[in-house]
Amino acid sequence: MRKVDAVGYAETFLDRFAHFSRIGSTGDGGVDRVEGSQANGEARRQLVRWMKELGFNVSVDEIGNIFGLLNLAGESAPLVLTGSHIDSQPRGGCFDGAYGVIAGLDAAAAVRDRLAKQSKASSANLGVVAWMGEEGARFRPLMGSRVYTGARTLQSALDGKDMQGISAREALAGIGFLGTDTAPKLPVAYVELHVECGSQLEVRKKSLGVFTRWWGAHKVDLTFEGKTAHTGPTPMRARQDALYAAAQVIVAMRALGDSAEIGSLHTSVAKLEVVPNSPNVVPCGATACVELRSLDPEVIKRSYDHLLACASFAATTARVKYAIARDDLREPGKFHEGLSQLAFEVAKCNGEEAVAVDTLGGHDAIMMTAVCPTVMLTVPSRAGLCHHPDEWTSQEDLERG
Ligand SMILES: [Zn+2]
Repeated sequence: MRKVDAVGYAETFLDRFAHFSRIGSTGDGGVDRVEGSQANGEARRQLVRWMKELGFNVSVDEIGNIFGLLNLAGESAPLVLTGSHIDSQPRGGCFDGAYGVIAGLDAAAAVRDRLAKQSKASSANLGVVAWMGEEGARFRPLMGSRVYTGARTLQSALDGKDMQGISAREALAGIGFLGTDTAPKLPVAYVELHVECGSQLEVRKKSLGVFTRWWGAHKVDLTFEGKTAHTGPTPMRARQDALYAAAQVIVAMRALGDSAEIGSLHTSVAKLEVVPNSPNVVPCGATACVELRSLDPEVIKRSYDHLLACASFAATTARVKYAIARDDLREPGKFHEGLSQLAFEVAKCNGEEAVAVDTLGGHDAIMMTAVCPTVMLTVPSRAGLCHHPDEWTSQEDLERG
């Protein structure tokens, strides 16, 4: 394996990664760095310190994305950008996201240093980005990259509120990262390195992958509206139980995923809000967050139709009304073929074999495909685990990536 550490600095990539993993530590190997939290602010400040130490020009844009740029070829030269995110789930792992940012710093600095050593000129500037709010644990997911790529307006993103009614604007201001800088111009290429968060590499006993395709995801928040009543005296047939309707949808979606061909459809209802959520009141409200994921747009479409039929049937059975509160479809797609090919070849030149894998989860890189050629590189996650403190990638694989 060819080492790519930027040399001559006090800390190596692994030192920085270990240091970073302690910020917001949950004490069991995981981290809690939800966007806009104090720990997230601390992680952001540490990242900025390292960027400056390594000679990057740092800027923070209006949605709180942090950019570190190395001006190697002059202001008008094209930009090649890498990065990922440093926010986490409330009890997330320390590899998801942070790996791509910390490794990106080292890789970009190493390229600069190597060019300087060989007295070679660069034809492009290099940049590293930490996207704001990728996880969607507090606000809508992929917030920073959505705004940067124009998929969402800055105002609507900043106005988005968490469950406590705190807006993204307030959360960012609270940690000192509601930036005022103009984001860098769009890059000519974007590279994201991310742990797999799946087990395709492990199953195939491979250590390096290129995500060539991403699964589509249809995310639907279904709201059922019934009527509160005392759970004791109210006759069964008179109840308008919103939770009962939601429960039927949960079971139906699980059955749909279970009955599909393995690897063709993943379904979930992972969040449920119940109103008033009291043990002796028939629920008047229930919101179920449904996700339908597949590589095949037809499968997603059919599953969505099935979901609507189930929701309608469940609402009738429970004598409640239903509505779709949110309906987000991300079509499945492919990353840039030329760049993916280049990634396979570069791996080969370094004596490694990279294999093509799919990403089942969403990433900022998927947003970036709308504005520039994009490639995603990946290394194994032990047992495919992600969004859990036990999430793990070996040091060897981290360096390989
Ligand atoms: Zn991630």
